[in-house]
Amino acid sequence: MPDTSTSLLVADSNAALTSYAAYTQQGGYQALRKALSQMSPSEVIAEVGAAGLRGRGGSGVAAASKMARVASAQDGQRYVVCNAYDADPRSLAAQALLERNPHAVLEGIILAAYAVGATEAFLYLRSSREQAAATVQTALREAQEQGALGGAIFGSRFSLAITAVGVERGFMGGEESSMLEIIKGRPMKAQQRPPYPSEAGLYAQPTLAQNAETLANLHAIIARGAQALKAIGSQASSGAKLVTVITPGATPGTTVGRLIELPFGATLAQALRAANAEASEATTRAVVVGGMEGGALPLAQLSVPFDFETLQDAGAIVGSSIIETLPASTCMVHWAMERAAYLSQETCGKCVPCRVGVKRVAGLLEGIESGLGSKNDLAVLTEFAQYIPDGSLCGFGVNATHPLVTAMQYFADDFNAHLEGRCPTGTCAPVRAHRYALKHVL
Ligand code: SF4
Repeated sequence: MPDTSTSLLVADSNAALTSYAAYTQQGGYQALRKALSQMSPSEVIAEVGAAGLRGRGGSGVAAASKMARVASAQDGQRYVVCNAYDADPRSLAAQALLERNPHAVLEGIILAAYAVGATEAFLYLRSSREQAAATVQTALREAQEQGALGGAIFGSRFSLAITAVGVERGFMGGEESSMLEIIKGRPMKAQQRPPYPSEAGLYAQPTLAQNAETLANLHAIIARGAQALKAIGSQASSGAKLVTVITPGATPGTTVGRLIELPFGATLAQALRAANAEASEATTRAVVVGGMEGGALPLAQLSVPFDFETLQDAGAIVGSSIIETLPASTCMVHWAMERAAYLSQETCGKCVPCRVGVKRVAGLLEGIESGLGSKNDLAVLTEFAQYIPDGSLCGFGVNATHPLVTAMQYFADDFNAHLEGRCPTGTCAPVRAHRYALKHVL
């Protein structure tokens, strides 16, 4: 496994750094003091660029290039928005960061704001995560009292106000453009891009919208230099990623989630070992990587490195950074149907391919699961697997068919068995009594 000796985040509850005092004892806010006294904003961005930091929200976009675009905008109000929402509610990443290391997130926001020239920032999180929200409020108050936030930070000429925004808006609440709409108090609908938030984001002003985990990496890069991140991870992606590993619980139908800090480039097998998760033919049917929109990979793919490009090549995504083992008894037709049904409820409904297409996928899979499918259904599903991402406005629609595509690609026998009228694992029961009627949907 690639080097894990240098932990930049906090995945271990024993190392909780919730208070300002505990955080500063570990060197916290030294990076901010250094940046404000010794570095220009462009030097901060250059250091982040040298570190090779990529966005942790799923896209993998270079953090420094986003920062540079906002910094180069014409004079005027600029914003930083920290996305700590965890779109997939099963992800523990942002929640753990806020609960155990909130000042690392705050210091990252302040460093980013200094780098791009923003004087106002928002920290956006799930309101249902009450402990995280309370910890953030305390950390904001402490940072303000200690001079790390507010006017003339640490005696410098730089000032910043951070507002915490707690909302509970389902999966799409975490989508970047929807998040900006919600902060503005508008309906939750994803927006056409370009223009990107870096050009016209919050209140049509240049906005750095960055994932909380991405920002939490900044203090280590500035305090210890780009090499602190470069020393960990893969050639393509520096550093480590907070990953939630979900395994079946002791009681059937339940699951257990565990957070690990995984260097990019470590294989899926290494990730499961790090989480003490068992995955053998006897126990596990598939490993799903990327969360509710992730792809299901067979055990033969456990040597795939956890990285943006390698996962994409295999049919999965970094996405919500969830690695999930499915019990050996899982029928992959049923699994793909459940994912499509869930996603059809979570779409914002703005574009037809996503709003109608995902529903039709769920309906067709229900028919196949119920023994009412035909070979032509597989051809139609293949067509939808292309049509939905191609016609979708935001990443939700682009990624929505990964469960379907990987289930059909790697577990074709399950589909063929259902077309012959039997469930391969004997676990499916009919869920509809008639074939899916397309005219009722359109
Ligand atoms: S792809 Fe789906 S979630 Fe995204 S804007 Fe279109 S309808 Fe909304």
